[in-house]
Amino acid sequence: MKKNYWVFKKNQWFFEETVPGILETIKPGIKIKKTIFSGRSLYQKLGVIDTLPFGRILVLDGIIQLSKVDEFIYHEMLTHPAMFYHQNPKKVLIIGGGDGGVLRETLKHPVKEVYLVDIDKKVIEISQEYLPFVSKGAFKNKKAKIFIEDGIKFVKKYKNFFDVAIIDSTDPSGPSLGLFSKNFYQDISKALTKNGVLGIQSGCFFEQFFHLKKILEKLKNIFPSIKIHKACVPCLQCSNEYSFTVAGKSDLRKVTLKDIKKRFKKLKLNLGYYNPEIHFSSTVLPKYLKEKLR
Ligand code: SAM
Repeated sequence: MKKNYWVFKKNQWFFEETVPGILETIKPGIKIKKTIFSGRSLYQKLGVIDTLPFGRILVLDGIIQLSKVDEFIYHEMLTHPAMFYHQNPKKVLIIGGGDGGVLRETLKHPVKEVYLVDIDKKVIEISQEYLPFVSKGAFKNKKAKIFIEDGIKFVKKYKNFFDVAIIDSTDPSGPSLGLFSKNFYQDISKALTKNGVLGIQSGCFFEQFFHLKKILEKLKNIFPSIKIHKACVPCLQCSNEYSFTVAGKSDLRKVTLKDIKKRFKKLKLNLGYYNPEIHFSSTVLPKYLKEKLR
């Protein structure tokens, strides 16, 4: 395990890397308080840094994955729309998500079991050690089954098994590239049950829509129903609006506000961002975006 990739002194600036082809013309800078951890695993460079604007952040290959101040927005919006579109999800698959945030939110639903599959054991280890506020003990929950495996290979072993699948991966490069492929989405569809639902972190609405548009092109030939939810997550990709795409094997449009309100009320959740009204308002896209995504 090689160490000390990013060792910053107080008040130094950390400039985020970019994923090839995405946001190459912008380099957000953040003022640093202290470096908590930095190193490299078999798959990526890892860093945990205390920052002035966002508190503690997780960085993988130079790209911010989450921050203490706004991770709840990202994890609630990636988890709950997909979970509440499904009438009664019992078996859930999370691919990626080694920080434990999606696992935490998924376990707030009356699920039977949650399979979390992350390729990199080191992400789970440093997240539990330096970012306990994210998983909040979710990795120790007896309903959680943790697999250190490549999600692309893992999903091929399941047919008609999961009610909901959530892809909380890094952006498309290196080990996560295949998680944005048509073959992978087809395998996910086979692994899902008849009314199965897929949720994906699909990047921000910016810069030629390189990322999101390609995902939609692949999904639309596999899933009959697709919805795009959006929310601003200040620490991600220069505070742009972020997209959370949900694809259903049955018609998501049939799920009404009344349905979501009833399901939400039953769980008595105390969430900081997501609620039934946001479930629907977050799908309202302005004309220029609809045209760009057509
Ligand atoms: N919030 C983040 C974002 O906005 O991009 C995602 C965070 S989560 C930590 C990303 C996880 O995806 C990492 O732990 C990484 O190891 C995992 N990952 C990348 N490629 C993978 C693969 N092929 N199979 C399973 N996990 C993968």
